[in-house]
Amino acid sequence: MSDLRDLYQEVVLDHSKSPRNFRVLPDASADAEGFNPLCGDQVHVYVTLEGDAVKDVAFTGNGCAISKASASMMTQAVKGRSRQETIDLFERFHRLVTGAAQDPDELGKLAVFAGVSEFPVRVKCASLAWHTLKAALEGARAPVTTE
Ligand code: ZN
Repeated sequence: MSDLRDLYQEVVLDHSKSPRNFRVLPDASADAEGFNPLCGDQVHVYVTLEGDAVKDVAFTGNGCAISKASASMMTQAVKGRSRQETIDLFERFHRLVTGAAQDPDELGKLAVFAGVSEFPVRVKCASLAWHTLKAALEGARAPVTTE
């Protein structure tokens, strides 16, 4: 467990310092904003769909290291997946961070976020970008809030 915790800290630090896909997609097919008032995290997620596939995904925003790292890793994890696969992955990720995952390893690199389940207030930080991506895919008009 302590190896996983070290890896978690390393990955969160790396992705929060240099987030991947941190940009606006000017020709996005869908986008949504999310806000976590508990921590002050804000995220704007952009998706470009090609048919049913997530061709490109990016985000901008401000927040704590966990919210940024999670958004960054999310963009890497869902690029190229179908809409349904993306929503399935969101559900598995949510089970992971709430400590309900049967097999964390099936989430690949995202498994490092299993450590979040030990810190309930951080669950919203880790899942904010995912909630926002789901809202974008579902065409939500109102901003997402974790409260
Ligand atoms: Zn946060």
